[in-house]
Amino acid sequence: AVSEDAYDVLVLGAGPGGYSAAFRAADLGLKVVLVERYSTLGGVCLNVGCIPSKALLHNVAVLEEAKHLAANGIVFGEPVIDLNKLRDYKDSVIGKLTGGLAGMAKARKVTVVTGVGEFSDSHHLSVAKPDGTTQVLAFKNAIIAAGSQSVKLPFLPEDDRIVDSTGALQLKSIPKKMLIVGGGIIGLEMGTVYSALGARLDVVEMQDGLMQGADRDLVKVWQKMNASRFDNIMLNTKTVAAEAKEDGIWVTFEGESAPKEPQRYDLVLQAVGRSPNGNKIGAEKAGVQISDRGFIAVDQQMRTNVPHIYAIGDLVGQPMLAHKAVHEAHVAAEVIAGQKSFFDARVIPSVAYTDPEVAWVGLTEEQAKKEGIKIEKGLFPWAASGRAIANGRDEGFTKLIFDAQTHRILGGGIVGTHAGDLISEVALAIEMGADMVDIGKTIHPHPTLGESIGMAAEAAHGSCTDLP
Ligand code: FAD
Repeated sequence: AVSEDAYDVLVLGAGPGGYSAAFRAADLGLKVVLVERYSTLGGVCLNVGCIPSKALLHNVAVLEEAKHLAANGIVFGEPVIDLNKLRDYKDSVIGKLTGGLAGMAKARKVTVVTGVGEFSDSHHLSVAKPDGTTQVLAFKNAIIAAGSQSVKLPFLPEDDRIVDSTGALQLKSIPKKMLIVGGGIIGLEMGTVYSALGARLDVVEMQDGLMQGADRDLVKVWQKMNASRFDNIMLNTKTVAAEAKEDGIWVTFEGESAPKEPQRYDLVLQAVGRSPNGNKIGAEKAGVQISDRGFIAVDQQMRTNVPHIYAIGDLVGQPMLAHKAVHEAHVAAEVIAGQKSFFDARVIPSVAYTDPEVAWVGLTEEQAKKEGIKIEKGLFPWAASGRAIANGRDEGFTKLIFDAQTHRILGGGIVGTHAGDLISEVALAIEMGADMVDIGKTIHPHPTLGESIGMAAEAAHGSCTDLP
């Protein structure tokens, strides 16, 4: 049984999922408590994920751009990199945002409890607080938003030259030679930062290509533009052992492009994925079912198998992205408040904030082929975009995928500067069920990179014989 004065909603974890759920629930008039183990709100995304990585990526993008300007007659001196100041800048960005969240929680009268939470039954959570005391919180409904953590390869030794993304974001020093284990978005973003600051990179990836999930044509452009950062891109290969020696970390590889001898690195970044925290919060004591891997299954209203307990964000499944967590959070809070909300997004965009950026949403050409879906595609190379040429960055392109019969848009991918900002239009078009004429006839401002989306739709339209 639960006491009358129990919180309407207890939210466990204050990442993008947790704080969004807490704020929405409070806005809907519910009495909310938000439990977070760390003293700042924001979770992985604000403290050690999306935001600090983008703060660093912004700086190195400007640095690279400045180098390119020499060809246009604007020559800067050799850059002097003060790592302490760069780190301070990144920390100040985090501070602004997490401070803002604390203010927003206060303004909404959300009670924030700092400590490690563990369910004791289906209506109580016990919180181990930093001062050693325990506080038991009673709740009518709970939203589990405890997120994920990076996967650690068990055979890598404990050594401060072997880091995960959190360690890499600390930017302690710039290694001469760095190994990225795992060629996904997180590894390649961090590689972009370290390489711009002077590191030489190797990357090892078990699968047959980097940036899995993205259209291969997009990745090809990214790879060509980034070839000079890498000494060795090892595909279909894995790391099998590592030894920490005084002169570096010596790593042994196995697979298609494995070097015969162990290789020496000054820094090794493990970026082989993230595992959900579902089995670390006593959820089973509340009766919540958790998979072996730590995921919690939910329905379209974000309900677990226990009807008054909801789960959102990284621990309910892929894609592990902040914007997915936020949308799920709103659904959970609204359902608790009695609204008929559902998570029924058609698509969730993905972005690699590398240089150039790679962004995609919905169906890719490869998926369409695999699933036997008949498509029309529209391509617009940025070499024909006035804005991209004026920017000195015309390597990109925009590709849209349409249903061959209905001409409705099914997916799209963009590689080029600002691709991450541009992809939202494609996501909106998919959600609205737009077809190639809708997109092609929408007047896009000139000269913008966004025009490439209208042009790609027009290109597809032109290739359809049954349209005027
Ligand atoms: P989290 O952000 O993981 O938050 C969970 C919170 O729960 C944490 O604060 C944790 O301390 C707390 N918690 C866990 N257990 C307990 C407990 N028992 N008691 C109390 N508190 C607990 N996504 C994007 O969309 N865009 C990006 O650009 C992007 N970049 C990324 C870069 C990096 C380097 C990394 C690592 C991730 C990135 N992500 C990005 C992914 C994004 O950070 C996650 O998808 C997002 O943070 C998930 O939100 P969440 O609310 O599910 O969980």
